[in-house]
Order: sequence, then C-alpha cells, then structure tokens
Amino acid sequence: MYLNKNIFLAPMDNISYILDRGYIRLVDMMGDDSSVVQAARCSTGNGTTDPKRDEELLRYLMRNEHTSPFEMVEMKWHAKMPIFVARQWIRHRTANVNEFSGRYSEFEKEYYVPSEETFKLQSQLNKQGGNRLVEESIYKKSSDEIIDISENAWITYQDMIEEGVSREQARIVLPVNYYTNWYWKNDLKNTLHFLKLRKDKHSQWEIREYADAMADIIKEKLPMSYKAFEDYALNGEKLSNLEMKIISNQLGENQLNKMIEQNNYEGMSKTESYEFKEKLKGMKSSI
Ligand SMILES: Cc1cc2nc3c(=O)[nH]c(=O)nc-3n(C[C@H](O)[C@H](O)[C@H](O)COP(=O)(O)OP(=O)(O)OC[C@H]3O[C@@H](n4cnc5c(N)ncnc54)[C@H](O)[C@@H]3O)c2cc1C
Repeated sequence: MYLNKNIFLAPMDNISYILDRGYIRLVDMMGDDSSVVQAARCSTGNGTTDPKRDEELLRYLMRNEHTSPFEMVEMKWHAKMPIFVARQWIRHRTANVNEFSGRYSEFEKEYYVPSEETFKLQSQLNKQGGNRLVEESIYKKSSDEIIDISENAWITYQDMIEEGVSREQARIVLPVNYYTNWYWKNDLKNTLHFLKLRKDKHSQWEIREYADAMADIIKEKLPMSYKAFEDYALNGEKLSNLEMKIISNQLGENQLNKMIEQNNYEGMSKTESYEFKEKLKGMKSSI
C-alpha cells in the first residue's frame, strides 16, 4: 500500500483499507461517551457516577434529537478515496476539510478499478444505482477500458508535466477514478448524520465502504453513542401522519388500549416506555 510521503505524522493505527488503494484512518479524537453526558449535565460538573444512568441519559438525548451534546466529541479522519467518492463526500458541509492539492503537488499514479464482484448493470427501478452483476465478458471489456483510459490519461499528464505545463492545468486530464486524499474533521452529531446517509443502501457502494469502516471505529471508540445511534437513527424509522393512521387502523382501538395499559416494554427504560405510550396515544387519537 503506497502512502503519500509527507502526510503521515500520526501513528498508523485505526486504519481500514478500502477499495483497491484507498483507506480511512482515525487520526485524532476529542472526547468520548462521557463528554456527551457531561455536556448534557453541564450544570452538575461530571454528572452522575452511575454508568447505567449515564447511558439512559445519552439514549434519551439521541431518541429525542437533543443533538448538541453530541457535538462535544470531535473526530479527525484521514481518507484516501477516488475523486468521484470525494465529490459525494464533500457535500457534507459541516466538516472541516483539507484536501491534497493537484496544483501544489503531482498526483500519484493511483486509480480505482471496480472489482468484478461489485460491477453491476444499471437498475431499471433505481435510477441512481445498479442491481445484478454484469456478465464476465462485459466486466472484462469494461475493466480493460477503464485501465486503458486511466493509463493513457497518466501518459498525457506526465507528458505535459515534463513539457513544463503547470500542474493545475495538466491535472485536468485525469479521470475521477484517480485517488485523492484529505483530512476530514467533524463532530459526532454530524458524523453520525453522514453515516446515516452514506451507510444506506441508496448510497453508492464505494462511499458506503468508507462509511461502514468509520462506523466500526466509532462503535469501538464510542460504544454507548453508537448503540443509541443504531437503535434510534440508523435502524429506526420515522412515521408520517398517514403511516401512523394506517397502523393504528390496523391495530384497532382495543389493541392500542391494551398496549397503552401495559407497564413495561422489554428492553426499554421506564422513560422510554412512557414515551412509547405517549406515541401510542397519539396514534389512537388519529383513528
Ligand atoms: C443517496 C444520496 C443521493 C444523493 N443524490 C444527490 C444528487 O443527485 N444530486 C445532488 O446534488 N446531491 C445529492 N445528494 C447529496 C444530498 O442532497 C446532500 O447534499 C448530502 O447528503 C448532504 O446532506 P446534508 O445537507 O443533510 O448534510 P450536511 O451538509 O453534512 O449538513 C448536516 C446538516 O446541517 C444542516 N445544514 C448544513 N448546511 C446548512 C445550510 N446551509 N442551511 C441549513 N441547514 C444546513 C442541515 O440540517 C443538514 O442536514 C445525495 C445524497 C445521498 C445520500
């Protein structure tokens, strides 16, 4: 794995290799799960010493979208990715970014070629993506062409550099499968928002690979926050008024009453059970 010379001042732990030549690594971090709880309880200093109550509070914050305490944790990442992935990633505006400059430095000859296992036919249903894998012959032809174009672009780029053309203009011949890299710093709230969007199956597979690797690292570093994120944001769903009506009509008033009268729900704290019952009451009133 080639790592660009002058950018590796931090230790190379917490690194995940992605695609054929990319990676993502956590470079630096401020705060942990307790910073979220501490911020929420800033009036009482370090807050409670009971970890269970800390987790309940943190889960309450996530469930009710009281998001500012999650902004108290900051994570700085270093990622190397194809330019087309960077173009999707940069749309997340709350991050601080420093990208490799093709004006100051020459690109490395590193480009992405999709593997056969990920090379798909255009889906007719999902206009933004592919579905079934292509036949072997189509993959062979397409990947050969991707390599040809990338190699030829490199030759033209190098020719221009050798003739003294400015780097900023020579680089315009390089296709978007060439690799770039950047430092990306964001707070936990917005990083989780990034994961919610980019781990989703509607996102392109390549950027999902980065989001999945970041999620694994966050899960290890911030287990309480990540679990709450999984339960309430990543794997939870918001229901529209109409959807609530449909469900409540299916359940009927009797069933809803039974659920409202029930005292405890497995896996839920007292507060969460109470909040759930309030939602059920809201559903009942929409019948
Ligand atoms: C599957 C998928 C497909 C997409 N397809 C397209 C596409 O075809 N074309 C396209 O152009 N984009 C596309 N996007 C990008 C998308 O529209 C968003 O720009 C991107 O996901 C960033 O989302 P965000 O604005 O919520 O996040 P961020 O920019 O990270 O912002 C986080 C949150 O901060 C707040 N915020 C940030 N900036 C502002 C602001 N200026 N004003 C008010 N609130 C702000 C918002 O609450 C926002 O949700 C796609 C994204 C996904 C995930």
